[in-house]
Amino acid sequence: MTLPTDPARNLAALIRCASVTPAEGGALSTLETMLKPLGFSVERPVFSEGGTPDIENLYARRSGNGPHLMFAGHTDVVPVGDEASWTHPPFAAEIAKGEMFGRGAVDMKGGIACFIAAVARHLEAKDSLKGSVSLLITGDEEGPAINGTTKLLEWAAAKGEKWDASIVGEPTNPDALGDMIKIGRRGSLSGSIVVNGRQGHAAYPQLADNPVRGLMTLVDALLHPVFDRGTKDFQPTNLEVTSIDVGNPATNVIAAKATANFNIRFNDTWTAETIQAEIHNRLDKAAKRKKYRAGKKAPVDYELVWRDRPSHVFLTRDDRLIEALSGSVETVIGRKPALSTSGGTSDARFIKDYCPVVEFGLVGKTMHMVDERVALADLETLTQIYQRFIEDWFERDVS
Ligand SMILES: [Zn+2]
Repeated sequence: MTLPTDPARNLAALIRCASVTPAEGGALSTLETMLKPLGFSVERPVFSEGGTPDIENLYARRSGNGPHLMFAGHTDVVPVGDEASWTHPPFAAEIAKGEMFGRGAVDMKGGIACFIAAVARHLEAKDSLKGSVSLLITGDEEGPAINGTTKLLEWAAAKGEKWDASIVGEPTNPDALGDMIKIGRRGSLSGSIVVNGRQGHAAYPQLADNPVRGLMTLVDALLHPVFDRGTKDFQPTNLEVTSIDVGNPATNVIAAKATANFNIRFNDTWTAETIQAEIHNRLDKAAKRKKYRAGKKAPVDYELVWRDRPSHVFLTRDDRLIEALSGSVETVIGRKPALSTSGGTSDARFIKDYCPVVEFGLVGKTMHMVDERVALADLETLTQIYQRFIEDWFERDVS
């Protein structure tokens, strides 16, 4: 039997499954076919929740004597967009000029394909592993992310699964393989401010109460002063006002209501709770400033609504894990990767509650784009890095 040691072959099989979120598309079955000959036991729990599609997930474990390494990822992909603008069809895995084209090539079927190839090569060479390896693969990362990683972690933990470390195989490299390992992420919070006023004639403002004035002063208070100047491990906290809406088509009418939405990415100066308190504080103070509301004695009448659940900030401090990965990159590529906490949130934010987690995968340049593609050379290199890491991490743990 041929083991799945060739990452390009593994990836081609996965790309040919049209697993546009939330469809399984055959991708998990393909994984199962690859993992079983390697000695993995495979389970595919389906999770449901009202108002969201049922999602099939996969948890595969190969048990051994020693520590437990978890590889986490997703097989669902984003829609292809305008299929006619693809140079090669998005689910054909065609190769041109040393690159494989297809939706999910880098985000992140490619990372999964390389990790499986790395395990297969290791087992082919050594015949055993000094510990356990599991793959925690969701079909719901690009969708609502409700019936995916969080539930899969809870489900596995309830069965008694425990992990010593995790690698998430998302594309972390901005330009070239080996650029960047992610060792943490900023937190994220979104909110809406609604200012209530009184509708009226623009020529008789004393009879109305213009909510736009109040909203301007509140928004300004969110933007100044800066929240912090960054920390040793994180870039500065950043708040972006993402929308301001009054919905008023008339120029001679003062509207009754004005709304602003914002998103804040916060570093380890804050927790979700302290940054929320800071924002409440700034808004309350600004609301009491009277200058934008000439003739009005009352503070700005506003409501602040937090949207969704906050994503918490985290930083992984497991030196052995970070050194094993960073050392493997250096051995294979010949340069040290940056250890970064930049960018958006990822499923690592859920995994960090169970074990130390780092993220390293392919080059992210073409993710979610038309003509998503990966260099075959990168697939080979990432496989070598993962294999080296597997050897190094399990050896280190034993010693
Ligand atoms: Zn992804």
